[in-house]
Amino acid sequence: MQLFIPRGIIHHSLKDDIFSLFRVFYSNLSEKEYINHFEELFAKYMGKDFCTAFPLARTAIYYALKERSFSPGTEIIMPPISIKGILDVILDLGLKPVFVDINKDTFCFDIKQLEESVSPATKAILITYLFGMVPNIYDLIAFSKKNNLFAIEDFSQCLNGKYKNKKVGGFGDVGVYSSSSLKTLDTYGGGLLVYDRKNLNKKMEEFKMSLKKTSRFNLFKKILINFTRNTATQVLVFDFIVYPLLRALDVIDPGSYLKQTGSRDQKMIKKLPSSWFDRFSSLQARIGLKYLKKVVGSDKERIKNVNQIKIKAPDVNFPKEVEGATNVYWVLIAYFNQAVKVQSFFQSKKVDTATSSLELISLLSDYPYRGNTPNAQKLHDCGLFIPAHAGLSTDQIDKVAEVSNKAALAFE
Ligand SMILES: *Cc1c(COP(=O)(O)O)cnc(C)c1O
Repeated sequence: MQLFIPRGIIHHSLKDDIFSLFRVFYSNLSEKEYINHFEELFAKYMGKDFCTAFPLARTAIYYALKERSFSPGTEIIMPPISIKGILDVILDLGLKPVFVDINKDTFCFDIKQLEESVSPATKAILITYLFGMVPNIYDLIAFSKKNNLFAIEDFSQCLNGKYKNKKVGGFGDVGVYSSSSLKTLDTYGGGLLVYDRKNLNKKMEEFKMSLKKTSRFNLFKKILINFTRNTATQVLVFDFIVYPLLRALDVIDPGSYLKQTGSRDQKMIKKLPSSWFDRFSSLQARIGLKYLKKVVGSDKERIKNVNQIKIKAPDVNFPKEVEGATNVYWVLIAYFNQAVKVQSFFQSKKVDTATSSLELISLLSDYPYRGNTPNAQKLHDCGLFIPAHAGLSTDQIDKVAEVSNKAALAFE
């Protein structure tokens, strides 16, 4: 029989999850030597002088902005698609998010729209690399410099992506990487802030030390989520248990399975949860130390798969690559106007796909600031994840390409 091809994978072993589930209760979670070693190694990996590990990317962004002491109402240019928690910390700091639309090929800010959105009140920009795609960063950095903006790069989905042979995350004033579940380097959560300024290091270390001791229970929950996802995406389990469950869910509540985000809470939060301010632990640092050296290998395999699919599915509308960019394709995205129908078609061929797992944060109805961002909306509604992850066999990649091309021809 033919096995189902899952949309994504967890980038560490099930064995690590099982050990960690136990370790979290008895091991020392604040061994400085592991945390420092991991920070140093990650900084070096990124070609930066310093790294400070926070519990989440949103926490790192919170402190990077707090250190600037911007006055209330200061504008920060934001991506229209990201994690809602990032919007929450921006609002908590009294800043005003200004959503700027993306370019449909790079998934990053459209430079013309940027020029039109900047005002004398704009003091910062959050450059976010979506789905492992790299834009022309020289243009973005030139824009930031010209307007005196504090540039944060969120490279959570683009670790090892490069522009003209320099890694993204190293172009702006600070870079932030979320080592959360599903990312190519994951450490049961983490927000790794990288930068060069020495006086910033002193302040970031102070912020870090002001955080609460790691909560064993919160960390346990994160490991458990990873364990569940990791189990669910092991191919056989996926085929016999997860897939039938998803199908059943689809019968009970049609369309619910197709939207990964459908049930996420979109309400505005009144106070930042205290778990966002737990310290990054040495258990997490140890996982990071173990897996950092393996990222490039799985990147290579995934990029090779993507190139195969692109060659074998010429009728599919993939975003165009930018000259000088080394994309890492955290997940491969293709545009399908009839995304929901196409997704069902993929399902019938036993290929699991999904629409964006990230929120369209420029259009959250409960939030005070919105933006008109049609390209982001299109990516959100019509961008489908096509499985290309490391670990798929040549046959599976051929099949994904074949089904993708058929879908493009049948529905577009
Ligand atoms: C996964 C991800 C994050 C995660 O942020 P956390 O605060 O660590 O949960 C942030 N930004 C992007 C672009 C992401 O993909």
